[in-house]
Amino acid sequence: MATLDGLPPLRDVIQRHGLDARKALGQNFLLDLNLTQKIARSAGPLEGVTVFEVGPGPGGLTRAILSLGAAKLVAVERDSRCLPALAEVSDHYPGRLEVIEGDALKTDFASLVKEKAASGPVKIIANLPYNVGTQLLLNWLLPEDGIWPPFWDSLTLMFQKEVGLRIVADEEDDHYGRLGVLAGWRTDAHMVFDVPPQAFTPPPKVTSTVVHLTPRSSPLPCDVAKLERVTQAAFGQRRKMLRQSLKPLGGETLLAKAGIDPQRRAETLSVAEFVALANIL
Ligand code: SAM
Repeated sequence: MATLDGLPPLRDVIQRHGLDARKALGQNFLLDLNLTQKIARSAGPLEGVTVFEVGPGPGGLTRAILSLGAAKLVAVERDSRCLPALAEVSDHYPGRLEVIEGDALKTDFASLVKEKAASGPVKIIANLPYNVGTQLLLNWLLPEDGIWPPFWDSLTLMFQKEVGLRIVADEEDDHYGRLGVLAGWRTDAHMVFDVPPQAFTPPPKVTSTVVHLTPRSSPLPCDVAKLERVTQAAFGQRRKMLRQSLKPLGGETLLAKAGIDPQRRAETLSVAEFVALANIL
């Protein structure tokens, strides 16, 4: 039985190509095309957009992105077993899908965009492998070339809910930490909707969530390395007062220069206050 997009059901694709899920590759597949369309739609309109996807796997989200009209989709997949299944998707959407076999952690996305993207916006959409999701987000938030605004216009990413909560957290929130400061400094980030374990094959242990991030055009000026040092020291001992946790960086003197009460704790500081501390370092 054909599906809405005229391609075979994903369950058949997985069976025909022997794509039994591998835990080491973070493989939890989405087989419901209504759900993958809902995820792709949360990235906003896709007509005229170049999309980059990490880990297309058997192609559920890939198919949704293409059916919603993305001008071009470049997908980076580490598991070569998925390539024949993805070639069928590519044949169905001639000239629009390019699959690159490789490790997304080692991929220079900024160069890839220069090489592959058509004119128009660039969006990243992915159901990320959980073992590398946070690192990939950090790579996109803190690009090595230091160029900001970055090459992407939005990120629409599936994470474990726990990680999603940390990305969107503000001060005074239990989940607020280094990730919340870095994401809050450079982007507007919000959670879109949760996805229960049963939606995946095989089901993971925990609930997942889709997070949408758009870059701030002019985040508060700050040196990334210094901001990292301050957040690491402050949240490394999050239950301690800042005069204690920031001692290696200047403690009370540093805090006095920034006008911050030394008795406060890391989770009470706004992004702007972390930036102020980093700029004094
Ligand atoms: N997009 C598919 C879906 O939604 O059903 C699969 C998502 S699955 C959670 C993660 C995918 O990322 C798998 O296909 C896996 O092989 C791939 N993957 C894992 N580590 C990767 C890496 N370092 N670089 C690129 N792809 C990777």
